[in-house]
Amino acid sequence: MQIRKKLTLQFIIIVALILALSLLAIYFFSADYRRDDFYNRLLNKGTNSAKLLIEVEEIDAGLLRRIDQDNPMSLPKEIIAIYNYKNELLYGSDNDELLHIHQELLDRIRLEQEIRYRQGNHEILGFLYADKFDRFVVIIGAVDIYGLKKLHNLQTVIFLVFAISILVVFVSGSIYAAKALKPISRVVEQVNNITITSLNLKVDEGNGKDEIALLAATFNKMLSRLEAAFKIQKNFIANASHELRTPLTAITGQLEVALIKQRTPAAYQEILLSVLDDIKRLNHLANRLLLLAQTGAENPEANFNPLHVDDVVWQARADIIKTNPNYKINVTLHETFEDNRQLTIAGNAHLIKTAVSNLMDNACKYSADHQCLVNISPAQNHITLEFSDNGIGIAPQDIPTIFEPFRRGRNAAHIHGHGIGLSLVERVVKLHGGTITLYSAINQGSTFTITLPVAQF
Ligand code: ADP
Repeated sequence: MQIRKKLTLQFIIIVALILALSLLAIYFFSADYRRDDFYNRLLNKGTNSAKLLIEVEEIDAGLLRRIDQDNPMSLPKEIIAIYNYKNELLYGSDNDELLHIHQELLDRIRLEQEIRYRQGNHEILGFLYADKFDRFVVIIGAVDIYGLKKLHNLQTVIFLVFAISILVVFVSGSIYAAKALKPISRVVEQVNNITITSLNLKVDEGNGKDEIALLAATFNKMLSRLEAAFKIQKNFIANASHELRTPLTAITGQLEVALIKQRTPAAYQEILLSVLDDIKRLNHLANRLLLLAQTGAENPEANFNPLHVDDVVWQARADIIKTNPNYKINVTLHETFEDNRQLTIAGNAHLIKTAVSNLMDNACKYSADHQCLVNISPAQNHITLEFSDNGIGIAPQDIPTIFEPFRRGRNAAHIHGHGIGLSLVERVVKLHGGTITLYSAINQGSTFTITLPVAQF
């Protein structure tokens, strides 16, 4: 059910309940008041008649009947019966025997002093009337034509008030609910207009204070994040294509030039070596892109195994020095740890080795002395790895974005690279629950610090 209908229905139910209870209370109090009032009138009239008959000597049953017939004070359809202590009827106008008087009833009245009952439309009061010498029973009944009519009118009014009120509540409730929910409908409408190609559109945040404005603001924030993610994705594809195309264009160009004319074997060899160089770079780039994709794959922890960080660092060092014999990498291990477990992390050996290699390679690549210092410091719950160099450093403006894919420092243009390494390192570190920080100053050097959590056994 729509919230609007639900709200209206709940509103109607609550108002109907309150209204019904109030109106029923009014009705029952009025009915009670009418009954008490009518029995009071019956008592007054009965007492009056009994007084006339018993206390005024000149008045006998015949005269009283005549008085009652013409008496404007008589109640509608009034019937009365007065009995003496022997239960003999002294006076009675109940010709049709509507009062249904019997011995037991008279005894009960004498016992209880006063009783009330109904016969058809007649409301009847029986009471004990005592004078100095005798105790009489007076039974008087009448129909409260006016009172009952008033009560009936009240019933109609109550019913009409209830029906009209519910109608008014229904209409006003629907309008109110529609008004209250209008901002939501507006947000829904605006959200419907936002597609993948128009993520820059935003939802109206209204007054900026209520819950709906908060929802719209939260949604807008999510849109901004999505937009940024899409932008990165789009740039990534464009950058990756560009990086792949450059060496391919170079290869094609070199081969085309080579084929223009016959060349000496030495010239062919030179061209082939240059092409091989480009192909190696292409291969390196493809491998890194593949690794980057792996770090984004679902459930990468499935391939995590216990591994000794120092072993991985030594392996990475050996691999780098093999391909770049002029690089110098010094590894220092702080011997402050108690056992080997403090050097063990749960991770993917291949990814950790790639990250460590990248940082070592960069340190050597971007420094004139091609030196890198690696510091391994195990602590209670984590291992810290520091990669320092005395190289060209990174400009402060580049530091905040340097971990984004394909970002390159402005002072690194003359050194070959694709800008994927650091983004790969950051992803690998995050994947292993670690952190990476960077300190760098132009022409003074850089220090990348990685912390990785120790494996829990
Ligand atoms: P690449 O080295 O292929 O350009 P990276 O992602 O590894 O890609 O590095 C991104 C950029 O960060 C580099 O282009 C360079 O400007 C800067 N950088 C990374 N490491 C260092 C370092 N040790 N010293 C100076 N600059 C660095």
